Amino acid sequence: MNATSSLDQVVEWLRSRDDFAIASHADPDGDSLGSSLALALTLDQVGKRSTVVIGQSMPRRYKWLPASRRVVSREYVPEDARASILVECSDFGRSGVEGLDTLESLNIDHHTKNLMYADLNWIDSSAAATGMMIHEISKQLGADLNKDIATLLYVTVLTDTGSFHHSNTDAPAMAFASEMLAAGANASEIAEAVYGDYPAARIHLMGDALSSLTRTAGGRIAYMFLPFSAFERRGTRDTEAFVNQAQGIDGVRVSLLFKEVGPDLMRISLRSDGAIDVAEIASHHGGGGHPRAAGCQIEGPVQAARENLIAEVHEALDEAGAR
Ligand code: 5GP
Ligand code: MN
Repeated sequence: MNATSSLDQVVEWLRSRDDFAIASHADPDGDSLGSSLALALTLDQVGKRSTVVIGQSMPRRYKWLPASRRVVSREYVPEDARASILVECSDFGRSGVEGLDTLESLNIDHHTKNLMYADLNWIDSSAAATGMMIHEISKQLGADLNKDIATLLYVTVLTDTGSFHHSNTDAPAMAFASEMLAAGANASEIAEAVYGDYPAARIHLMGDALSSLTRTAGGRIAYMFLPFSAFERRGTRDTEAFVNQAQGIDGVRVSLLFKEVGPDLMRISLRSDGAIDVAEIASHHGGGGHPRAAGCQIEGPVQAARENLIAEVHEALDEAGAR
């Protein structure tokens, strides 16, 4: 693996280029969108042109984000882009946008399983959210931390810490959140916008997931399954944080949410209490993430994929001696 670059190198790289395409991972979340938009607003302030591009439509839950209208939904990098910046994205393929790898590229991420695929790779797995890294860039470039940028960056740390709940909720994360509030972000308005305005369809889909809840390995593993028909019937694909319901059960060490997203195609969310590194397991299947929160996609008959992955987790728990 290449060594990670430094903040100084990143800032120098940005200073000497222009016309950026900023992209992130498919199924973008609060950290990827908040970081991408905050970076775009930062670049605006220093006179640089940029486009935020995602390979699908803007998720409903994040449409209210400041500057969200800057997001362009398309599957190919804009023609006028001269350099690409991938934010929170483990590899080019996961961006869902083609052509980013044909440009000079910068990769900014806080995931341990990042593939270091760009010309310049700045990876800091100690950052609770990629937004904290964007803030460092912003400061170095001399951008003003206005209310919009503070709001975007607050969203990154709110969502990536699971509302200040996960193990990445440390003193720097809280200090960062506090700095964003001091700069104008409104904590309760943001929490309400992100978590308090769900369409009923999502709650019904969560009911489908919960009714499939199964425990195994002596109660150490809990998993849920959503068949393709559930997504069709409910008319939503929003499953963000569903898996936490399973992880919250007494005695559960690892939880999984299996989503049948197409014929013989399953997306999986994994969570761990720290007993095993689920990013490691996800990486065996081309996925990645964090030690306690990871994901991957598996092709093939969904039932076999499910059973194999559960067996793999079971074995890892036994090997780790996790009771
Ligand atoms: P979630 O289960 O919430 O979709 O994802 C949990 C964590 O794993 C997030 O940090 C997410 O970015 C990462 N992750 C989810 N799916 C994948 C994947 O297919 N590849 C990689 N590299 N990371 C993933
Ligand atoms: Mn993140």
